[in-house]
Amino acid sequence: MSGLHHVTAIAGDAARNHDFYTRVLGLRFVKKTVNYDDPGTYHLYFGDETGSPGTILTFFPWGHMPQGRGGVGLTQTTTYRVPESAIGYWAHRFVELGVKHEAIEKRFGESVLGFTDPDGLGLALVGVAGAESEKAWAGSDVPVEHAIRGFHGATLLLDDAKATAGVLDVLGYEEVAREGSSIRFKARGSDVGNVIDIREAKGFLPGRMGRGSVHHLAFRAKDDQEQADMRRRLVEEHRMHVTEQIDRNYFRSMYFKEPGGIIFEIATDQPGFSIDEPVESLGTKLVLPPFLEGRRAQIEAHLVPLKEVA
Ligand code: ZN
Repeated sequence: MSGLHHVTAIAGDAARNHDFYTRVLGLRFVKKTVNYDDPGTYHLYFGDETGSPGTILTFFPWGHMPQGRGGVGLTQTTTYRVPESAIGYWAHRFVELGVKHEAIEKRFGESVLGFTDPDGLGLALVGVAGAESEKAWAGSDVPVEHAIRGFHGATLLLDDAKATAGVLDVLGYEEVAREGSSIRFKARGSDVGNVIDIREAKGFLPGRMGRGSVHHLAFRAKDDQEQADMRRRLVEEHRMHVTEQIDRNYFRSMYFKEPGGIIFEIATDQPGFSIDEPVESLGTKLVLPPFLEGRRAQIEAHLVPLKEVA
């Protein structure tokens, strides 16, 4: 299986972020932990029932960061799959709940409903034929027949697509279509999270990462061996500087900056989010990795409760 593993973005207020993704979008809160490199801040994970690869959107709530600005070298839009028949439901829901959204458009033959989260993160729902038969989280107010089925993919805004296309090939993607200035790539052998669109915008202003920006995109490797093979090809054939493997508790990761300037990660499918709490109670308490457990009281005292939405 290839495709997106997770997407990590930067939020402002943690409670507002949690409220939007669970109540408004109906995702499951699958993990409440801290940023391992910055334990004073949360790392929040939203996905399907188990946090399957291809469904996980994670946030670093960094309220001190300035607002990001879209542009070249950043992910422009993160897209979710919904059944084709659900697009109307969502347009109506966004009106009712006051979510900033755009008119429904057709892209690559699919209906796309663009919207933004409270920090201005660019998102879209894409109506996909047949997605109604895929599983969805049933524990929210969103009726299951309309619920989000994981990622559709992401749109990257780049100066030039060519070198990035070579890197995407290593990650399991191939070009399948072009429309206007967009090139569509699809991951071989998977449905969820299998689309990357590159929009070429030569000479356009570079983006600036901040609140409301995607921090990085993580791509799937089924195991350590596949990850090591991808690393070798990225280094040898594409001269990428790829980090050594880092243990993120729920997956094992390597990072590099792709030629267009976006941070890419390769994350293993294993071991997953039930490694340190049962599936039934995922996301209900603060989980810390063993190396931070000794500092729990101090860490908890710093974190703002997630239920109080301003
Ligand atoms: Zn990541």
